[in-house]
Amino acid sequence: MNSIAENIRAIRGRMAAAAEAAGRDPGEILLVGASKMNGAEACRAAIAGGVDALGENRVQEMTEKLARNAYEGAPLHFIGHLQRNKVRQVVGTVSLIHSVDSWPLLEEIQRQAERRELTQEVLLEVNVGGEESKSGFAPEAVYEAAERAKALENIRVRGLMTIPPIQREPHGNLPFFAKIARLYVDISRNLYDNEFTYLSMGMSDDFEDAIAAGATVVRVGSAIFGHRQYH
Ligand SMILES: *Cc1c(COP(=O)(O)O)cnc(C)c1O
Repeated sequence: MNSIAENIRAIRGRMAAAAEAAGRDPGEILLVGASKMNGAEACRAAIAGGVDALGENRVQEMTEKLARNAYEGAPLHFIGHLQRNKVRQVVGTVSLIHSVDSWPLLEEIQRQAERRELTQEVLLEVNVGGEESKSGFAPEAVYEAAERAKALENIRVRGLMTIPPIQREPHGNLPFFAKIARLYVDISRNLYDNEFTYLSMGMSDDFEDAIAAGATVVRVGSAIFGHRQYH
């Protein structure tokens, strides 16, 4: 079995190759380690191995691992579905929330960030496949949400995030990635100058296609940490 550091080195190599093939600078793409179900020691190994950040899915797991210094030395992101009653535990604790999937959630983040007198950076999650099982803004609704969010004083919207539907064909996600990339460029140009820089898409099985389509953040779990053990 490869070590976490070796896995990260291999992923960095593949990221660089995908970026260069697309005529992009590999240095502009962040690698976020999706560390759900991996312990504090594995998180620390990933940080030592050079991930740019770690991303957690569940508030309780994150809180437990914070108490064990799992994230020392790297930024912490939240990437999972966030319930409104848990926003308080996340705002100000993480540097970026990838998974803002509704207007009420944005309002609650604003409320908690204002209370704590800080600015929370977020991404808007887009349900690109229109799947009922997934949350997120509809592609048709995200431009307007990004525009409205400019009025929220304690929130900075930094980009978009998406998880496409599961595909059976190789490269089946490319059209979904391309669609969100167009939205991202459109919002960035028309609404936000220079602040809208994160396009978070691509996981272990498809991060190269995401980079080809323009991702600036990839979220990689099993290719770094090995397959998750579900109990
Ligand atoms: C688990 C997870 C990932 C990483 O998935 P892998 O297929 O293990 O790379 C990325 N993003 C989110 C939101 C996740 O929950």
